[in-house]
Amino acid sequence: MQTTIRHICGHTETVQLRGPADERERAVRKLTSRPCRECETARRVRADKAAGLTGSDKQIAWAADIRADVTARIEEVKARSAAAGPETEMVDLALSRLAAITDADWWIDHQSAQQAMQAMLTDDEIADFRRRAQSV
Ligand SMILES: [Zn+2]
Repeated sequence: MQTTIRHICGHTETVQLRGPADERERAVRKLTSRPCRECETARRVRADKAAGLTGSDKQIAWAADIRADVTARIEEVKARSAAAGPETEMVDLALSRLAAITDADWWIDHQSAQQAMQAMLTDDEIADFRRRAQSV
């Protein structure tokens, strides 16, 4: 069912809603309480620029998603390792270096957590962490 939504930002969007009437009503309430997609994207780009990403608006929006995703995956790895030790140290070092990367292009080129982590650490550092992890 085609429904016109008047968003909180004042813009209107036409959406296709399916399902029973009460579900559609709920969806309408949820959508009207939010800004439209364009305003939401613009808001995110502003936030991401404030967070220091550089590039075109389109690159920044894309890179911000990648950065959030990669960082969350690396944090997961850290959460899984039982105790503080060489592995968590390595992850912290990689995360602190990743936090300094503001080039949207770089993030678009490093979309996997493993790629991003490896790019942040030298081979010597990785070898050193591995050696220490084995001797624990
Ligand atoms: Zn809007």
